Amino acid sequence: MLCGQKEFVEFGDITFTEKTRAVIKIQDGCDRFCSYCIIPYARGRVRSRQPKNILSEITKIAKEGIKEVVITGIHIASYGKDFKQEYRLIDLLEEINTIEGIERIRLGSIEPLLITEEFVKRLEKLSKVCHQFHLSLQSGCDETLKRMNRRYTIEQFKEITNLLRKTFEDAILTTDIIVGFPGESEEGFEKTYTFLKDIKFYKMHVFKYSPRKGTKAAVMPNQIDGNKKEERSRRLIELSNQNEKAYNEAYIGKEVEVLFEEEKNGVWQGHTKNYILAHYKTDENMENKIVKLKCIGAEKEYITVFTS
Ligand code: SF4
Repeated sequence: MLCGQKEFVEFGDITFTEKTRAVIKIQDGCDRFCSYCIIPYARGRVRSRQPKNILSEITKIAKEGIKEVVITGIHIASYGKDFKQEYRLIDLLEEINTIEGIERIRLGSIEPLLITEEFVKRLEKLSKVCHQFHLSLQSGCDETLKRMNRRYTIEQFKEITNLLRKTFEDAILTTDIIVGFPGESEEGFEKTYTFLKDIKFYKMHVFKYSPRKGTKAAVMPNQIDGNKKEERSRRLIELSNQNEKAYNEAYIGKEVEVLFEEEKNGVWQGHTKNYILAHYKTDENMENKIVKLKCIGAEKEYITVFTS
């Protein structure tokens, strides 16, 4: 339920490299102090890697044949906040976009408030940036968001999703939600449910709140019963599954561009630019190839593609 999608051992390392994709950590730490999160205490304040080190690392990876980089960290929206000069995430993305050999730039989890008109205007010009946005919402109820010390309202969040969808026709939005946060009443949960139905995320990662020692939320009154958390989580997972299937089905008949990663039982698997899993049955070696194919079928977790 933290902002960074993965935990990292060494700051500054190429975090991991798969056959077609490398995950690049650009910063560590966080200054946001969400009331449930231990990161600002455990990992300290924002520290950003120097752009020249990141860029040379990505250039090296590209020469080795990697086509996709995932830009990640604990709170990437804060990238550059600790620099003397004005240089932020969008400046870094603009430079990565020019690196020869890199064909896809994927953003890790992002703070919703990063998405401003100005940011989107500059992002729109970057042809390699994938239109998959993981925006950590956490709750669809303003009172709960306030207790979480998240700094946006659901109205602001809605405007942000509208802006992304208006700008990027193929935008896929995913999110993290915490259920059973202290004080989350039935009414509060229903507000979240209704809001999520309205936003229609492609996928939601649902977490049942569990207290972290040393955080404000751990000592808040009205902790929620385990059965309630279970029931709320079940409802949201069900909603997420419905959305995912409906989104995938909407691709039937459309052309998609897939970067293939691996073969399993005669079926090649890869992802579209907006991160939908695609299956392709072929004898050809597709590893690390980017190909345009037609979507001919859809399941909950993937689409099936074939030559057009
Ligand atoms: S933004 Fe909040 S949840 Fe994310 S790392 Fe910082 S304190 Fe934790």
